[in-house]
Amino acid sequence: MVSNIIPFSESVDAGNPADAPRQSDVAYGDVLQAIIVCDIAPGTLVSEASLSERFGCRKAAMRAALERLAAIGMVEPVARRGYRVKAITLRDVNNLFQVREIIELPVVRAAAATVDAGALRMLDAVRAADYVPGDRRSEARFLHENTRFHLLIAESAGNERLTAMLAQLYGEMERLFHFGLALRDRSQEMTREHTALIEALAAGDADTAVKVMAEEHASSKAMVLDAIMRSDTLLDVSLSAARRGEDGDSG
Ligand SMILES: [Zn+2]
Repeated sequence: MVSNIIPFSESVDAGNPADAPRQSDVAYGDVLQAIIVCDIAPGTLVSEASLSERFGCRKAAMRAALERLAAIGMVEPVARRGYRVKAITLRDVNNLFQVREIIELPVVRAAAATVDAGALRMLDAVRAADYVPGDRRSEARFLHENTRFHLLIAESAGNERLTAMLAQLYGEMERLFHFGLALRDRSQEMTREHTALIEALAAGDADTAVKVMAEEHASSKAMVLDAIMRSDTLLDVSLSAARRGEDGDSG
């Protein structure tokens, strides 16, 4: 289930009535963040004991945190063994990138007609972010700037509902991007794409703007798929039709 993942920034401060954060809230935020930036790899088996030691909190607090993470689909209980961190699946990647195309290509086409000088200046200020592959903090900053760039374009197209949908989508895609960015430095490629996009928008050239955005989608998806192809867990998966029956979902 992809739809029940709440972007980190919106979820950490939810459900905390007291002034001081409860230990379980802190644990929830810490573990969620570690999952999103892939410090805890997709598909990893984790336990209350190991996580409470790692994040320095009581087991009871970690238990509550894990229950909340299970409720949003980020981890899944495994009988007598703890929890498994939500895997990244090809279905997730395909579905999320498909939605991204459906929303963002018409948005950029509209923006080519409506973008103004102020918006172009703001786009120019955030277009060239870079990062150190494998450094989670710099990756997170880079992704934040990239999201800001794309949402600025959406805002200049003038439909705030589409902007909100895109913001939600980028939140859900954050973990995929982290997963891909660690393996490959995409900053120069992305700077080129963003520069070409600004030029097309400034010229009011909708066709080129859409083409450049579609290229960014394709290279971004290729980056994530490449990371999946190289991941240890996937390398050991045998693809076989017989497995369908085991999961009880055949037919
Ligand atoms: Zn971008």
